[in-house]
Amino acid sequence: MNAPETRLDLPYYSPCGHEEAIFESAWRNRLPLLIKGPTGCGKTRFVAHMAARLGLPLYTVACHDDLTAADLVGRHLIVDGDTRWSDGPLTRAVREGGICYLDEVVEARKDTTVVLHPLADDRRILPIDRTGELLEAPPNFMLVVSYNPGYQNLLKGMKPSTRQRFVSLRFDFPEGERETAILLRETQCPADLARRLVGIAHGLRQLKDQDLEEAVSTRLLIYAALLVRDGMDPVVACRAAIVESLTDDPEVAEALMEVVSATF
Ligand code: ADP
Repeated sequence: MNAPETRLDLPYYSPCGHEEAIFESAWRNRLPLLIKGPTGCGKTRFVAHMAARLGLPLYTVACHDDLTAADLVGRHLIVDGDTRWSDGPLTRAVREGGICYLDEVVEARKDTTVVLHPLADDRRILPIDRTGELLEAPPNFMLVVSYNPGYQNLLKGMKPSTRQRFVSLRFDFPEGERETAILLRETQCPADLARRLVGIAHGLRQLKDQDLEEAVSTRLLIYAALLVRDGMDPVVACRAAIVESLTDDPEVAEALMEVVSATF
């Protein structure tokens, strides 16, 4: 039998541990899931992979600091002079079944907690004040949220009362061989280039705590590989796709470029 990650009909995802089994078990038991990890480490791809594998529609919301409960639940709109209710993505997922994935959930306004809490515990309900409805989530509804603990300040971190409603997975960047395999699969670049880029990533990740807010992501390595595959000089590609995306500070950029120059 084929391993699940080799199924070509699914968004490609290379697992690192028990995350697929945990997702499926959470799903079977109607438990919500929280995925935490740095940006660009595969959280969104994982959710897309699992949704396809379970045959579920996926409603993704990229949360931001203006996102309110109404953006998730819905609002009245005026259409041709009539006032009509329009479901938000969360309500649609609850009505129709499927996975609602709230990416960077801690960015959203605090009033979103009021709608997420009763959905995330065993009540599994969504009260819609404005229409007077009380929706019960069907068995095939699942709430998945993600956030990046790295750059959250204390105020923005997730409150324990919210966190403790979720089964939680910690993600990190794939280890060397797996990250190389991901680069090869995502970009079809030469194996030697993939290995060198992953080597640069390791070098840069060691510098991370010194001057950088965030470590280089697998996503940026993919960008660099695509530019090189397109004919760009590797050093130029790494500056544009990796270094300048990591820092605005020219001195830090030059320090990062030393790691690149040592490789190419
Ligand atoms: P996040 O949601 O954590 O910010 P993404 O899921 O968007 O990050 O990952 C960024 C890119 O990195 C993906 O589009 C994919 O190309 C690649 N990627 C990272 N981790 C994996 C993985 N484990 N399997 C397959 N692709 C991965």
